[in-house]
Amino acid sequence: MQNLTTQLRFHARQMPGREALVYGETRLTWAELEARVLRLAGGLAAKGIGPDSIVALVMKNSAAFVELVYAVSHLGAVLLPTNFRLSGEELDYITSHAGVDLIVADEEFAGVLSGLAAPVILLDQAAQADCGRVLGSDPAPGAHPRSGNDLMRLMYTSGTTDRPKGVTHSYENYHCKNMDLILALQLSAQDRLCMTGPLYHVGACDLPGMAVHTMGGTLIVLRDYDPQTVIDTIAAERITGIWLAPVMTSGLLALDRSALPDLASLKWCIAGGERTPESRIRDFGGVFPNARYIDAYGMTETVSGDTLMEPGREIEKIGSVGRPVSMVELEIRDDEGQNLPAGEIGEICMRGPKVTRGYWKDPERTAAAMFGDGFLRSGDVGYLDEEGFLFLTDRKKDMIISGGENIASSELERVIHMMDEVADVAVVARPDERWGEVPLAAIVLREGATLDLESLVGFCRAHLAGFKCPKDMRILDDLPRNPSGKILKRVLRDRFLTE
Ligand code: ATP
Repeated sequence: MQNLTTQLRFHARQMPGREALVYGETRLTWAELEARVLRLAGGLAAKGIGPDSIVALVMKNSAAFVELVYAVSHLGAVLLPTNFRLSGEELDYITSHAGVDLIVADEEFAGVLSGLAAPVILLDQAAQADCGRVLGSDPAPGAHPRSGNDLMRLMYTSGTTDRPKGVTHSYENYHCKNMDLILALQLSAQDRLCMTGPLYHVGACDLPGMAVHTMGGTLIVLRDYDPQTVIDTIAAERITGIWLAPVMTSGLLALDRSALPDLASLKWCIAGGERTPESRIRDFGGVFPNARYIDAYGMTETVSGDTLMEPGREIEKIGSVGRPVSMVELEIRDDEGQNLPAGEIGEICMRGPKVTRGYWKDPERTAAAMFGDGFLRSGDVGYLDEEGFLFLTDRKKDMIISGGENIASSELERVIHMMDEVADVAVVARPDERWGEVPLAAIVLREGATLDLESLVGFCRAHLAGFKCPKDMRILDDLPRNPSGKILKRVLRDRFLTE
């Protein structure tokens, strides 16, 4: 039986009094966490949630988030964490497409949820620290058995298409990912992980949050990301590990170093999701004397964490994201699916038990993402060196990564095309010091029309999350196209780069 509550029950029996979860004033032992989760599962069951029901979360980080991860699995139901910054329209698409049975949300997001079809349960501040207050009831009986092939989670990604795709994660995907992290990071019950990245992200939640819990370690959950709070938490809670998006590390490294507390407990910081500037990797030891900076490459489709930089090699191999973990076969392939030798650039492709079986209710896009032999096409371009270290060089897929969040250019183009003023549009990434990349819209106007950035952003905000909206705009006479009419985005990117 692979439900997540099996590990919870194990730790509650073996070390009932040890700390499992910390959130603000809430400090729970394994025995207390188990009792809470079972009550929560009982409450969800009373609301009709059972095997294969889908429960969506629209929540910031909290104790309730982690407890719901367990309670949903206990019932054999499927978790669908969503980005809390999405618009009502985007949430409506995802929850309808997935067929969500229940939405659990922080009350501050009530506004965007008003038009959705699925029933919504709102958690106030007290319930975020103890959601049994709102949802709890008599403890649920034994877990509903789940096996490796069963669906554990759905995660919608703004990958490359005009609508988000629902990545399916089976229990096998999830447990194999955990095993890899336990091996690579030598995790134990002594580990204390600070969770400050948004838990709806596979990186912030699983890399290696849930793996630390598998080993009986402690999760210290922060609601938001604030550099000074993170530093204070590392010192006060004797944190040993943390996951941060590269954009978050810059905030930590910018703090006044003469006023830092004792940060010697931190052993590692995993970062990934976007490129880390090399200067930041070199700088990391200046703030955290005993910590390794581990650049990790991965994608939601593989439950993330496919390559990890190895201890002591981060400077020698600077620019690389490390070597594949044990359960990932990683090849560099050409368009025909031929495996290329070391040093040659091609598409990064992966196979193994961590890789998703496909997109939810979307056989077409699933087929397009895989080679016939089961290798997933990442859409990322790179090469392996002679020792098997992976270097990323480019992205084939039309995606922008801004502050660790993915934005599909096509999703933004679909919305901008709806504007009366717009005859044609292409959205490309523009490099940005702070966010890594930001979306830039190259627009051809209809005859006689005018448009400024403020109106463009205002229109986009009505349909999409704020972080997806263009940060920059250019009005062009026409867009560069190849002879078959395809927009040449590379030409646009190069043009704006050299401006
Ligand atoms: P998360 O949802 O937690 O951010 P993630 O970034 O691993 O997880 P996705 O959001 O699916 O997963 O984004 C995957 C894409 O992010 C990859 O295909 C690649 O383009 C980019 N990416 C991931 N890791 C790195 C990295 N270390 N350096 C540069 N780009 C990366």
